[in-house]
Amino acid sequence: PAVIVAIDGPSGTGKSSTSKAVAAQLGLSYLDTGAQYRAITWWMVTNGIDVTDPAQIAAAAGKPEIVSGTDPSAPTITVDGTDVAGPIRTQEVTSKVSAVSAVPEVRARITELQRSIAAEAAQGIVVEGRDIGTTVLPDADLKIFLTASPEARAARRSGELKGADVNATREALIKRDAADSTRKTSPLAKADDAVEVDTSDLTLQQVIECVVTLVEE
Ligand code: C5P
Repeated sequence: PAVIVAIDGPSGTGKSSTSKAVAAQLGLSYLDTGAQYRAITWWMVTNGIDVTDPAQIAAAAGKPEIVSGTDPSAPTITVDGTDVAGPIRTQEVTSKVSAVSAVPEVRARITELQRSIAAEAAQGIVVEGRDIGTTVLPDADLKIFLTASPEARAARRSGELKGADVNATREALIKRDAADSTRKTSPLAKADDAVEVDTSDLTLQQVIECVVTLVEE
């Protein structure tokens, strides 16, 4: 039967790299749910929606068509047929995504999409996000909650952004995680039955091995 793995946690914990590698190693599909929230945010920004106005966001939430490619070796994301893999990683989208993803109509829409993608994955799927184990797929076979110290997370993100200011990155990360953790609808949270893995002092390879072992148990 198809195995469903939920991997949640704040940003900079190695969630994406771990999830992709685990899926590839086990022959499973892979879904980056953060990319979906970034894609709908990109659409809002591009179409002149005021992202400080939840009513405007809610009214537009059903408009963009978001499609995710779930091959872990080449994940893709399109909005109305346009490849947005690059544009969804800009600072503008990153700074606005928490506000857009806090709107219940946005979450309902994206959650439905996530559940149908998981149901269609014949071999199973690794789904990474913030509320996968708690809300999207509460019956997942395995739930992982990745954590790391703020220092380790900021250093990883700065490494990814090549030379960006570590302090500014840390501040932005803390702000985004605080917003994601305190919103009313399915906030970033560890499910009661999730296995927590602190990645601060582990290499990516060690985290991958740890999760693969847990899936195979
Ligand atoms: O994982 P990533 O950092 O790309 O996620 C971007 C943002 O998308 C998060 O900061 C959060 O606001 C939102 N998100 C969410 N629920 C998820 C995944 C991401 O609200 N399951």
